[in-house]
Amino acid sequence: MALAGLPAAEGHAISFTMEIIFLGTGTSQGVPMIAQPEGEGCDMSNPKNWRTRTSIHVEMGGHHIQVDAAPEFRMQCIQHGLDQIDTFILTHGHADHILGMDDLRRFCDLNGGEALPVYSSEEGLARIQQIFPYAILDKPLVKGYPAFKLERMPKTLELPGGTVESVALPHGAIEVLGLVFTEAETGKQFTYFTDCKAVGEEARLIAEGSDVVILDGLRPNPHPSHMTIGEATQTAQEMDAPISFLTHMTYMVDHDETEASLPENIHLAYDGLRVSW
Ligand SMILES: [Zn+2]
Ligand SMILES: [Zn+2]
Repeated sequence: MALAGLPAAEGHAISFTMEIIFLGTGTSQGVPMIAQPEGEGCDMSNPKNWRTRTSIHVEMGGHHIQVDAAPEFRMQCIQHGLDQIDTFILTHGHADHILGMDDLRRFCDLNGGEALPVYSSEEGLARIQQIFPYAILDKPLVKGYPAFKLERMPKTLELPGGTVESVALPHGAIEVLGLVFTEAETGKQFTYFTDCKAVGEEARLIAEGSDVVILDGLRPNPHPSHMTIGEATQTAQEMDAPISFLTHMTYMVDHDETEASLPENIHLAYDGLRVSW
C-alpha cells in the first residue's frame, strides 16, 4: 500500500523510501491456533485471517532493521524475500517475539560472518542470554552459526538511515519497547507500539508527527496486557496520525468484518502487507 497525501521527498537528489513489511500480525498462539474450534471466530477462507506471530521489517534510508523474530521467522523471510538485516531490535522477551532469533544466523553469514547488532531492554537482553547463550559472541563460532552483539536500547538509537527512539510501554508484568522510526534524509516517521496495554503521555509525545502509527489491537474483549480493538481504535484516533494500523490479533478478529467497522484512516494489518511512502 502506497500512502497518498503524505510528505514527499521533493527537492532531494536521492529519494529514499521508508518501507514497513508486516511479516506477522497474529497473537502469541497464531491464527488459526492449534485445534481451533470449528466455526468459531474469523473466516479462515480469507487469507488475511491467517496470521503468523507478530514482527515487522523496516527499510529506513537504505538500512534494514528487523523488529522481533517470531517462531515463523525463517518462513516469513523466505516468503517475503528478505535478504538483508543490518540491525535487530527485540521489543521484549516473550516467546512469540524471540523464538525465531536463532535463524538470524543466515544474516550474520550474509554480513560477512560478523555478529549482528541486537538491541533490547534489560528484560529482553536477559531473556536472549537465557535462550541463546551460545550466540553471545563477537563472531559466529562456526560459519553459519548465529552471533549477537548485545546492546542496551538507548533512548535514541542513531543508525545510518535515521534514528529509532524508544519508550517503555506497559505489558502486564513487564514493559515493552515502543519504537519511533525517523528517516534522516526525509523526516518520514512512523510509530510501532505492539504488545501494550496503554500508550502513556511520554509515548504519545515522541510519536507526535508520525505519518503512520501501528498499535496493538488484540481482540474485542478485554485482556490484562493488551489493548482491545476498541481501546486501540480510540488511542489511534487520539494520536491522530494520517493512517494507523492495528496488529497482534487473535482468531476472534475477522479481517473484513472488523475493517468495515473501523474509522476510515484506521486499518487492520495483515501478514505480508507492505506500507511505503
Ligand atoms: Zn506478543
Ligand atoms: Zn508480549
